[in-house]
Amino acid sequence: MWFLDQKDMPEKWYNIQADLPEPLPPVLHPGTGKPVGPEDLAPLFAMELIKQEVSQERWIEIPEEIQDIYRTWRPTALYRAYNLEKALDTPAKIYYKYEGSSQAGSHKLNTAVAQAYYNKKEGIKRIATETGAGQWGSALAMGCSFFDIECKVYMVRVSHDQKPYRRIMMETWGANCVASPSNDTKTGREMLKKWPDCPGSLGLAISEAVEDAASRDDTHYSLGSVLNHVLLHQTIIGEETIKQMEMAGAYPDIIVGCVGGGSNFAGQALPWMRDKISGKSTGMRIISVEPESCPKMTRGKYAYDFGDVAGMTPLLKMHTLGHTFIPPSIHAGGLRYHGMAPIVSHLNKLGLIEAQAVHQSGVFEAAIMFARTEGIISAPETSHAIRVGIDEAIKCKESGEAKTILIAHSGHGHFDLGSYAKYLGGEIMDFSYPEEEVNRALQELPEI
Ligand SMILES: *Cc1c(COP(=O)(O)O)cnc(C)c1O
Repeated sequence: MWFLDQKDMPEKWYNIQADLPEPLPPVLHPGTGKPVGPEDLAPLFAMELIKQEVSQERWIEIPEEIQDIYRTWRPTALYRAYNLEKALDTPAKIYYKYEGSSQAGSHKLNTAVAQAYYNKKEGIKRIATETGAGQWGSALAMGCSFFDIECKVYMVRVSHDQKPYRRIMMETWGANCVASPSNDTKTGREMLKKWPDCPGSLGLAISEAVEDAASRDDTHYSLGSVLNHVLLHQTIIGEETIKQMEMAGAYPDIIVGCVGGGSNFAGQALPWMRDKISGKSTGMRIISVEPESCPKMTRGKYAYDFGDVAGMTPLLKMHTLGHTFIPPSIHAGGLRYHGMAPIVSHLNKLGLIEAQAVHQSGVFEAAIMFARTEGIISAPETSHAIRVGIDEAIKCKESGEAKTILIAHSGHGHFDLGSYAKYLGGEIMDFSYPEEEVNRALQELPEI
């Protein structure tokens, strides 16, 4: 296990935009089809975050106030998975960087604290957001409580009903959490009229939160993944890991991370990408892992799409299953958002990362093996990365290669024991999203 001293915690975030071989495609205004400017985003986001979204500066200083809060749980530890290696009887060396030790239990606090800070500095009194499984909502609730900001969370109904403890966590930190679709917004009320039992989706909850923020002067909107500034805040993970791998005398041949919107994966991968882009380590493989039931990277389209169901957000060029995608509720493993971070999508197009999709049963099998060897009960999301990490270690056994594998471990699964219970009870089924459904939702992509 490798710890960094608190004084060695990185004090800058890394902005990949400075080093991209081709610049990112612009974000477009949904009405005009023209690139958006800061004034278009100002009703929703703090100006400092808007600047970070388009910044071309390679390094961005982490303000002291944010560093102080980061140091309540950072730097996080890097582990070598000796017991897992032994159980797999592999010559591979498996490392994992563990973000589950934050107060909220995942990497999401890295951006929640930063976003709350910048909004507070600009006089914002209230933040509205959406949450799926509840990790983002609870991270933002804590971030807001540290800066004395009111927090309103629209939580996807299936998770709201299945995961009451995440909601209670948010309430403990002072947030107000409602099931989405809710009666608190026009979008929510219209959906409930059409479909009273609607299980909700992240895209729909985003529509509600954006509508809430756009309709009040004292309120901004906050997104827990996907956007460039969110990925930027997460790069502290990879920057720490680079120092820790150096301490361990190791360098990764393979980096693997799960992707919902892409933030934890990018937080670990982007700092290493410098070596890949500069040619220092062209052979390094960087693999993103998604569920077969929400396969935007492997089966979606790289196109301009909305971030939400109602079509209120700017248009992002990304891998998408279509903004009208509603994930199957049979799926237990999180990672249900229809789109992928523009930065991650762009890197995929440039051939700098790979994408794989995995089935639920294999994911939980890997999660159980990890728990029984390393002790940590991982979030189902994280377990997608563990699955592929194990697969690569098994390939090493077959080929006799002693590769170094680095797993981005995004969080613990203490609030996901319901899913573990289903798996242990033999109730987890594999589900590939049907091709007809993918095609249907893709037909509803906006025309540019
Ligand atoms: C939210 C979450 C994810 C997925 O979101 P990304 O933005 O893709 O990182 C993965 N793991 C955990 C533990 C999460 O809370």
